[in-house]
Amino acid sequence: LGFSTLGLNPAILTALSELGYSTPTPIQAEAIPLALKGKNLIAAAQTGSGKTASFVLPILSRLANGDTQRKKRARALILTPTRELALQVDNRIAQYGKYLNLKSMAIYGGVELAAQKQQLIDGVDIVVATPGRLRDLYTQRAIHFDEIEVLVLDEADRMLDMGFIEDITKIIDSLPQDRQNLLFSATLSRQVRELAKETVPNAIHLSV
Ligand code: AMP
Repeated sequence: LGFSTLGLNPAILTALSELGYSTPTPIQAEAIPLALKGKNLIAAAQTGSGKTASFVLPILSRLANGDTQRKKRARALILTPTRELALQVDNRIAQYGKYLNLKSMAIYGGVELAAQKQQLIDGVDIVVATPGRLRDLYTQRAIHFDEIEVLVLDEADRMLDMGFIEDITKIIDSLPQDRQNLLFSATLSRQVRELAKETVPNAIHLSV
């Protein structure tokens, strides 16, 4: 079965077909319909499984079909462990969302704050960020979380291994309570399960 049966916005299907994606991977086939229904998910999924599209596609579809907002504050937040992964996810968003009028940006440390601040002022729909720099920007009131509808924790085990738990907790505590939560992790260690218990209530567990 192809992507067209999953319930995604047609403009996304066009982009996928141009990229040569014909069949969803197992994690995509399981996660996308549930994520489109607004469910909380905890997925054990390795890199290479197609996990990125399994959270990016439902987010794009949801934001594309929703009301276009006036303030252009971020409505989806994707946390990743590294700058490289943040850029890679942001790149996929641009590819899959080629025919949608949505703006995304990657936020990461080790570079000047000014450009990232200006991009936030210009308006953004989706933020892909490493936890430390995002927390800095939030503390400086350069980013607002009041419009966040979806949170993704990508490679949660790696983020915890890298010592980001305090930044992650601080960020999550600042998000609206009423939101969708998607957690992806290669391994479901005790630490990951603890984070998941607090952050992703009533989750459906997927493993592929
Ligand atoms: P990921 O596990 O998300 O890092 O994806 C692994 C690789 O598979 C990336 O190069 C994707 O562009 C590619 N990919 C993901 N989903 C599909 C699909 N359904 N069909 C073809 N390629 C895909």
